[in-house]
Amino acid sequence: MKYRKLGNSGLKISEIGLGSWLTYGTAIEQERSIACIHKAYDLGINFFDTANAYNQGAAEVVLGKALKEYARSSYVVATKVYFPMGEGPNDRGLSRKHIIEQCDASLKRLGVDYIDLYQCHRYDPETPVEETLRALDDLISQGKILYAGVSEWSAEQITDAAHIAKEKNFRPLISNQPIYNMIVRYIEKEVLPVSEKHGMGQVVFSPLAQGILTGKYKPGQEIPSTSRAANHNTNRWITSYLNDAVLTSVQKLENIAQGLGLKLSQLALAWVLRQPGVSSAIIGASRPEQVEENVITSGFMIPEPILNEIDSVLAEIDGFVPIW
Ligand code: NAP
Repeated sequence: MKYRKLGNSGLKISEIGLGSWLTYGTAIEQERSIACIHKAYDLGINFFDTANAYNQGAAEVVLGKALKEYARSSYVVATKVYFPMGEGPNDRGLSRKHIIEQCDASLKRLGVDYIDLYQCHRYDPETPVEETLRALDDLISQGKILYAGVSEWSAEQITDAAHIAKEKNFRPLISNQPIYNMIVRYIEKEVLPVSEKHGMGQVVFSPLAQGILTGKYKPGQEIPSTSRAANHNTNRWITSYLNDAVLTSVQKLENIAQGLGLKLSQLALAWVLRQPGVSSAIIGASRPEQVEENVITSGFMIPEPILNEIDSVLAEIDGFVPIW
């Protein structure tokens, strides 16, 4: 496993990270969840992502339980705040009140003394950015979090936050967590260059487009019965990818992968990691074998002519926007 620096910070995280959305504490039973997390750790993954809102804290509990076995210094745990955790007007968003309360709640659920990377899950138009940044800076001063980042913020929001942090002397945000995969590339235009300018690394989510970029879904064929798309509790987002145009292009990508002696999942991860601004690709895994298959990518460089070939296939589905 190779490790990359997260933005301009000194923190080193594995090129492949493991997330827990729709899997641990949700669709996957605890024993298998823990087996996936342990397999990841054994294979050198040190970056584990979760969120308070993933099944209302249940994902954090399972992740904390699995990581308990290991030295705290040997892994980097990232969680998030923003989405509703209750019915009240202050049970959501990025107010000082909600951030401070949810940080304490996440620490308890994870069973740790500090969170390595605390991320604003979305931008909150109802809270002044300065209030959010000050709350995060205070949490860093208190030692409850080590670093702060954001998720799915636009280039403009990132720029604005970076300027306020500089002006007020808050510790800078070090990361952004956007969607990024062969099918969804919107960050390349503005988010990547702007983040780089402000010293932020990307820890990208859904690098396999929720499993579409493994080639298991074929045009005109039944959805595999044990997949995310077959599970009514987890298929809300993935179904938007399941159209013949996308799946036909994915089959062409699979042929390219085979030509290199790779699985499509491995090519898709190497493709995301070709961007130096990407510090880690956060995969999901419903089985330990998937983790094993996916980590092989770390360090693989796709030859330039193959990158061009991939680009021409991706041009066929340029403009496709899934729901995430
Ligand atoms: P993904 O890696 O694109 O998809 C993961 C799913 O693909 C697995 O659960 C598995 O589903 C399937 N899969 C993975 N490897 C496979 C393999 N080798 N062979 C066959 N199938 C394979 O990532 P994701 O789960 O969508 O997202 C990853 C993480 O990103 C999340 O856990 C979360 O931490 C983070 N995330 C963040 C946000 C945000 O707003 N910040 C949003 C979404 C996700 P099945 O086996 O069930 O088919």
